[in-house]
Amino acid sequence: MAMALPDVLLCCLWVVWHGQPGLGLPLAPAGCRSPAAAVEQFWHVTDLHLDPTYHITDDHTKVCASSKGINASNPGPFGDVMCDSPYKLILSAFDFIKNSGQNASFMIWTGDSPPHVPVYELSTDTVITVIANMTKTIRSLFPKLQVFPALGNHDYWPQDQLPTFNSKVYNAVADLWKPWLDEEAIQTLRKGGFYSQKVPNNLNLRIISLNTNLYYGPNIMTLNKSDPANQFEWLENTLNTSQQNKEKVYIIAHIPVGYLPFSQNTTAMREHYNEKLINIFRKYSNVIAGQFYGHTHKDSIMVVSDAKGSPINSAFVAPAVTPVKGTLQKQTNNPGIRLFQYDPHDYKLLDILQYYLNLTDANLKGESNWKLEYILTKTYNIEDLQPSSLYELAKEFATPDSEKFVKYYNYYYVSYNSSVICSEKCKAFQICAIMNLDQNSYVACLKHYYIKSNL
Ligand SMILES: [Zn+2]
Ligand SMILES: [Zn+2]
Repeated sequence: MAMALPDVLLCCLWVVWHGQPGLGLPLAPAGCRSPAAAVEQFWHVTDLHLDPTYHITDDHTKVCASSKGINASNPGPFGDVMCDSPYKLILSAFDFIKNSGQNASFMIWTGDSPPHVPVYELSTDTVITVIANMTKTIRSLFPKLQVFPALGNHDYWPQDQLPTFNSKVYNAVADLWKPWLDEEAIQTLRKGGFYSQKVPNNLNLRIISLNTNLYYGPNIMTLNKSDPANQFEWLENTLNTSQQNKEKVYIIAHIPVGYLPFSQNTTAMREHYNEKLINIFRKYSNVIAGQFYGHTHKDSIMVVSDAKGSPINSAFVAPAVTPVKGTLQKQTNNPGIRLFQYDPHDYKLLDILQYYLNLTDANLKGESNWKLEYILTKTYNIEDLQPSSLYELAKEFATPDSEKFVKYYNYYYVSYNSSVICSEKCKAFQICAIMNLDQNSYVACLKHYYIKSNL
């Protein structure tokens, strides 16, 4: 019987079964770890930020509206670090996915389609047009693929101001995303910009797509509201029902929980909302099998711990497709997309295959050469993506001169510039943001580092 076969043999069988000659991409699960070697996959794309004005011209202040009059740095057909994505860049990412030879059961798409431009340059209609354009692009390239979208803070006009009930944008996306979502999902999406839905062909797996933009600091529509759009109540009820029905849940959203890894003591959403969300995630950690976010444009890991500090959940922020950076920022990210591997029996997350485009290279050659950047378990030599594995990894990162942390920091910027060094202080922020998502433990972590390295 299958159980008696050695792992290695099963691993080979898996490759024979699933393997297709293609782009030289790894097709087997990274570690070939368990005897039941079935693995399923899904794509995660985020922060496309299309800039329809992008074009090559000698006047570098006029390459793209998203550079806001600043000189583009080295503009080419696939974009520039001072600009949001040209359509060609976004298309190259989806073309790569299409031609990768990888089988995926679904795709998650965590928001932010419009460009970073001054508020008066957009309107509700232009925002909807951009989201419609991106939706059509995905639908035409992947007519059969199940996609689960989430709204981002830029998927609204004026940006960040997503309201607690009905809006033209919620209505528009409810219509646009109808081919992917069922009746009940469309209903809550239309009302409050969030939904939940089971994953087709994955009997007991449910996606919960949260509208965490309601909790975002700059959103004045939700000031002084304890439960905007009653999303917390809805989330608890949904998780509770999932628990009773023995389902597992993947949480997807744009604004992540936890602390920003590049600054001190700053949560991505308003602090009291973050605390509330963490408490819900703790309460239902046995139901939640993974959390997936965007918004920071950088590649980072987070481990949710219970009140006693034991790791109970894994969360992942995927890097953006747009390479844009602010004028004052030294670093940015190369465009990135990722493939998750999970066990279809219990929906446990097994691995990440992170792909990226070296933008400088692509512009120089005039062709997009999307490549594998890393396989998470291989690059860090860990078993899987379970909370305990990631927690141990984070502890290794924290040790002085950790080579693994140097890697992590390079991947944080999607291999934009491997020579950049993360100072002691920078490292403390990174480590505390990985391991501590609630205020008490985060503050304690910074204190610990303060004493150790005298920040
Ligand atoms: Zn964004
Ligand atoms: Zn965002």
